Amino acid sequence: MAEPEPDLSTKYDAVIIGSGAAGGMAAHVLTSHGLQVLLLEAGKKLNIEQELRSMEWPYDNAQRGGLPPGSHALNHNEYTIRRPPYGPGFEKSKNLYSYIGSTDYVKNIVVNERDNPYTGTNYAWVRARCLGGKTNIWGRLALRLSDYDFKARDRDGYGENWPIRYSDIAPYYDKVDLYLGITGVKENLPYLPDSLFQRPTKLNCAEVTLKQGIQKMGRVLTQYRAGVTTDGLKHNKYRSRCYGRGACSRKGGCDIHAAFDSPTGLIYPAMDTGNLTLRTNSVAREITVDPQTGKASGVHFTDSETLKDYTVRGKAVIVAASTLESARLLLLSKSRLYPNGLANSSGHVGHNFCEHIMGPYVAGQATDLVGKPPTLDDGRPGSFYLTRFRNLSEKHPKFIRGYGFEGGSGSGMFPPGTDRPGFGASFKEEIRRNQGSYIAMGAFGEVLSRYENFVDLDPVVKDKWGIPALRFHYKFGDNEHRMAEDMKETAQEMFEAAGFKIIFVSDRVLTEGWSIHELGTARMGDDPKTSVLNQFQQSHDVKNLFVVDGSAFVSASCQNPTWTIMALCWRSCDYLADHLAKNDL
Ligand SMILES: Cc1cc2nc3c(=O)[nH]c(=O)nc-3n(C[C@H](O)[C@H](O)[C@H](O)COP(=O)(O)OP(=O)(O)OC[C@H]3O[C@@H](n4cnc5c(N)ncnc54)[C@H](O)[C@@H]3O)c2cc1C
Ligand code: SF4
Repeated sequence: MAEPEPDLSTKYDAVIIGSGAAGGMAAHVLTSHGLQVLLLEAGKKLNIEQELRSMEWPYDNAQRGGLPPGSHALNHNEYTIRRPPYGPGFEKSKNLYSYIGSTDYVKNIVVNERDNPYTGTNYAWVRARCLGGKTNIWGRLALRLSDYDFKARDRDGYGENWPIRYSDIAPYYDKVDLYLGITGVKENLPYLPDSLFQRPTKLNCAEVTLKQGIQKMGRVLTQYRAGVTTDGLKHNKYRSRCYGRGACSRKGGCDIHAAFDSPTGLIYPAMDTGNLTLRTNSVAREITVDPQTGKASGVHFTDSETLKDYTVRGKAVIVAASTLESARLLLLSKSRLYPNGLANSSGHVGHNFCEHIMGPYVAGQATDLVGKPPTLDDGRPGSFYLTRFRNLSEKHPKFIRGYGFEGGSGSGMFPPGTDRPGFGASFKEEIRRNQGSYIAMGAFGEVLSRYENFVDLDPVVKDKWGIPALRFHYKFGDNEHRMAEDMKETAQEMFEAAGFKIIFVSDRVLTEGWSIHELGTARMGDDPKTSVLNQFQQSHDVKNLFVVDGSAFVSASCQNPTWTIMALCWRSCDYLADHLAKNDL
């Protein structure tokens, strides 16, 4: 359906670019302050329930949930062997997706790599160009950062501290918890603060065994802290409470929106205020600047279907296109006043790019559970999180910072162990006997923020809309590789402490980007020479320009970033609304 013509005569209070976790939150906060807001989203508004089909049985799907013929999702080897852009070499596949796009349920949510190329070093860049962005399929692990992260430099001397402390953001974490809903269990850990949790999920037998087994080592395993409402949210008519169907873990996404997604959690309620205009299919290509004042004047965008160009005006511009796309947009917004790109007098836009390293993994078996009757274990929106334990009270001799593990066990719709040898009735019996006893976990570790890890614009390659592609200059460093060795060793040691039989241990590091937690390309800081934004995600150079997504992170920590993105964004948009009201932006 064609998008309505935008009202070019209006000067909006704020124009937001991107509708994921960050853009959705900006829309919610600014409209609740009574501001008139335009939200531009590059992708389509999908019928997301129809895409996700959370309750569809595999045998009701023509490909048992796999991709239709003519489509291909890149695998780990392809990411490693080939260099981006990843289109050439896959000519037989009309649709080429990132590794996440390997099922029929998410194929329209993630981008077609051919239309959206990038170049440079190997990188598994997962993008979702549709209303709500990646929040439609995110993994739901919703963790807070602490002063162990915000003030990490004080502890180990590396990098920069954040310009905020935990106490600055804690009230906003609380607001996010209460507005969106989160499940988990209080642990009173200084390095992983608790949220205001709704009803928790349950750990199963092997998970409790692991929890108890590592307690004597001073390590903590807790229920998956999921950005899911388990008790329901009276103030939100678009979301249901969680019915524990586990579809989000099996397929990604939740069609009843118990799991947070930006459209039902933030954007539709914002539209109900009457203050939000949403325009999808709107690819922002430049933030325009008033040459007299040097301030942002609006956004130049192209309709992705009709290819018509528009320029809309705003008193403030909020960039929320996701960490890498936001950096791209700032770099694209070159002008006589800002020849290096907008908000880039420091030369730091695109730099200090950081994320999480993944790969090391352990799988084992609680042998005392073999042959026990199956239990319903995959009816949960998540299993467990094993919290960081390195470089808290002691210094590790080989690396700085830390890592945590995500894992799970128990009986499921798709039992583990089907790759064992055998066939027929005896094979089925073997699978049934063993299924609830398997347990596995994999690590997510902090990648250090380094100026040398950066993105810039490719001088030649352009996307489908003629916009210069992003070029990666990014590699894990020695600290990450040493950390990965430790991940493998500690994973094994903890499974042994729990008395599990080890089945498989991997020290393979996955391609850069695999964690889908890109951060840091327009970092916050007090010094405009070494940072792009102040503590309110406001550009040091252009006062009415805010970048409210993961770009603003000063370091990656090892906790998943989305809850922090939204808490920071809420804080910044309160500040923005306040200053807009005082007319001093
Ligand atoms: C499979 C998966 C699992 C994940 N698991 C977790 C997890 O467990 N915990 C966690 O914290 N995080 C997780 N994440 C990451 C999480 O989804 C992101 O941190 C979060 O969505 C970031 O929000 P964002 O608004 O910055 O970006 P996005 O959600 O990507 O939204 C950005 C939006 O901007 C739009 N856009 C981009 N460029 C333009 C442009 N030029 N013009 C207009 N619009 C534009 C995009 O189309 C998109 O809709 C996961 C992600 C995936 C894909
Ligand atoms: S377990 Fe809960 S969050 Fe996950 S798909 Fe089912 S209802 Fe949605």
